[in-house]
Amino acid sequence: MTYLRAETSQIDAWANLGNNITWDSLFPYFKKSEYFQVPTQAQSQKGASYEPDNHGFVGPLAVGWPDEMVGNNFSAILNSTFDSIGLPWNGDPNNGSMRGYNVFPWTIDRSLNVREDAARAYYYPFSLRPNLDVYLNAFVERLTWEAVSHESQPFASGVVCKHSSGKEQQLSAKKEVILSAGSLRSPLILELSGVGNPKVLEKFGIEVKVNLPFVGENLLDQTTVDTTYNATENFPGDGGFVSYFNVDDVFGNNSKTIADEIKQAIPAYAKAIVAASGNITDLSAVEKLLNVQHKIIFEDKAVISEILVNRPKEESSILEYWGLMPVSRGGIHINSSNASAPAAIQPNYFMLDWDVKQLVGTAQKARSIANTAPLSNFLSAETLPGLATVPANSSNEIWTDWLKSAYRSNFHYVSTAAMLSQELGGVVDSDHLVYGTANVRVVDASVVPFQVSGHLTSTLYALAERAADVIKARYA
Ligand SMILES: Cc1cc2nc3c(=O)[nH]c(=O)nc-3n(C[C@H](O)[C@H](O)[C@H](O)COP(=O)(O)OP(=O)(O)OC[C@H]3O[C@@H](n4cnc5c(N)ncnc54)[C@H](O)[C@@H]3O)c2cc1C
Repeated sequence: MTYLRAETSQIDAWANLGNNITWDSLFPYFKKSEYFQVPTQAQSQKGASYEPDNHGFVGPLAVGWPDEMVGNNFSAILNSTFDSIGLPWNGDPNNGSMRGYNVFPWTIDRSLNVREDAARAYYYPFSLRPNLDVYLNAFVERLTWEAVSHESQPFASGVVCKHSSGKEQQLSAKKEVILSAGSLRSPLILELSGVGNPKVLEKFGIEVKVNLPFVGENLLDQTTVDTTYNATENFPGDGGFVSYFNVDDVFGNNSKTIADEIKQAIPAYAKAIVAASGNITDLSAVEKLLNVQHKIIFEDKAVISEILVNRPKEESSILEYWGLMPVSRGGIHINSSNASAPAAIQPNYFMLDWDVKQLVGTAQKARSIANTAPLSNFLSAETLPGLATVPANSSNEIWTDWLKSAYRSNFHYVSTAAMLSQELGGVVDSDHLVYGTANVRVVDASVVPFQVSGHLTSTLYALAERAADVIKARYA
């Protein structure tokens, strides 16, 4: 529901990693996908703000603010709180520069007061087209291949899917197969189809069609933590309040020392990632990716901490937060030749100490927000973690112990079929084509080369719009 894009520097970095996407080239697609609903006067008074040049007004995806936004001056209370800790108001965090405090837009159809989604935006308006069929409750197991390759590359002839009745069906493709099953599924479908690391495929008796060792590697996710408080007042209404901090905001004068420490640690980080992958990934490739992330964090100063403030309610208010730029990488692979069997997933959360540092700094910042007036006037006791568990001015070690006991996935899994050059561990090229195949593409979060600081869907809609143009151009 949160509609927040990415930092300019994060998308620009992709172009140095073997693809040709930059912020400027993706920006028109953010706008193309968007049907931005200009805030009403009442919404503006409650904090909804935007810059018109950043938005699209005739696209399919409804973006805006809920009808009944949180009132009682809460947005101004937060603005004044963030001002006190030196974080500025950001009039539009969807402009590629996210630092600051903002009342963020949602994917929502304001007139219906209904959450917007891909089906409402991209399917229902076109569902009567004669050349579009959607099969519900149909689970794709694998691709099928033509007996003869095209220009020496395997050509996918369709997919095999299983209906919820148990019936199996083969669907044929004349031109292309486009996988959009998400970061945790698209790589598995590739592996079940013989595209992946021979060591993984051969274990389950799957014939290798394309030797592509990085399928399922490079899995990156963020880790989220909730903090709760008793509130002294109930603020009614809907809406979300977000604050984004960069490395200087979080670590102050220590940020230069931390930058140097992490830079020195990169060779060891790369070794740990390569070892965790079972020596599939290449040391120098991983080092290059880590150096790019280091630059984004410490030189470009992309935001590294997201702290969401939910409206205080009678009993509790929640600060929800996560570190935005983790560097630990894991993987997901098939664990059987049976498509319905559970996969083997290893996210490797906190494998590298930058990820711990980033989350500890974010947690300490979140507590300081809650302790700053005027927000603090509306909160009484901290109930989670609570001062008995994590006392005031606790050491980083105490915070780390609690955070590791309290985190969950942020559901922002990316990179398992990364759009990178093959030398860097890529699975798809700039056109989303799976390396070594004639006509298989992946268009979903698995192609995102590493985390972006925004929430993912806005970037994915933009990537999908761009992919649609690429595909149409091939057959024009
Ligand atoms: C609880 C939660 C809250 C979130 N909140 C936000 C938010 O507020 N804002 C935001 O921007 N992002 C949010 N995200 C993240 C966002 O939803 C994901 O990053 C995004 O949906 C990923 O898009 P995708 O196309 O890669 O995969 P998905 O959206 O997961 O789409 C993959 C689709 O493929 C289908 N599928 C999978 N395997 C098969 C198969 N074998 N055969 C047939 N179909 C298959 C799945 O059913 C699914 O419909 C949230 C995620 C979660 C889980």
